[in-house]
Amino acid sequence: SEALARAESLIATIPDFPEPGILFRDISPLMADAAALRAVVDAVIEPFADAFDVVAGVEARGFMLAGAVAIAAGVGMAPIRKAGKLPRPAASVDYALEYGTASIEMSDDLPRGCRVLLVDDILATGGTLRAGQQLLAELGLVCAGTAVIMELDGLGGRDVCGPVHSVFRV
Ligand code: IMP
Repeated sequence: SEALARAESLIATIPDFPEPGILFRDISPLMADAAALRAVVDAVIEPFADAFDVVAGVEARGFMLAGAVAIAAGVGMAPIRKAGKLPRPAASVDYALEYGTASIEMSDDLPRGCRVLLVDDILATGGTLRAGQQLLAELGLVCAGTAVIMELDGLGGRDVCGPVHSVFRV
């Protein structure tokens, strides 16, 4: 749609951030625009309409998307946080970064069998969303789908996390 095309045009591309050689995609200008935000949130939800009970976003940009998705879809939201931030972590998953490892955690606030839509801003190598999927499984939750605003092609993310719904691909 026209609204989605405009939304895509609002994603900024910044060379050499956070390190030389990295082409960083910044969704902030898209999120700041009411019509673009609305169009993207609707597009994230569309394939999963009525198929999820809760949306979970990965810290930190995934939180922004998850909050908007929750209100638009009429569901609640749950945070997936970097290690050490949650007061009552119930599960923790380690995953590889380019240099070293990271760990994400989730609380046990959702009932077993709850259908969770997992969201983040960007899919790159897929390590983050794969860890998120494992976290849901460890807590007995059902991953109803995995969705991102933008998928970076050629980094193998899809091979790592399975079918991912991406609104934009670049
Ligand atoms: P992955 O684990 O390699 O798929 O990286 C995905 C995570 O890194 C997500 O949480 C993204 O927010 C972040 N990320 C990777 N590349 C970019 C980018 O170009 N812009 C914004 N965030 C990014």
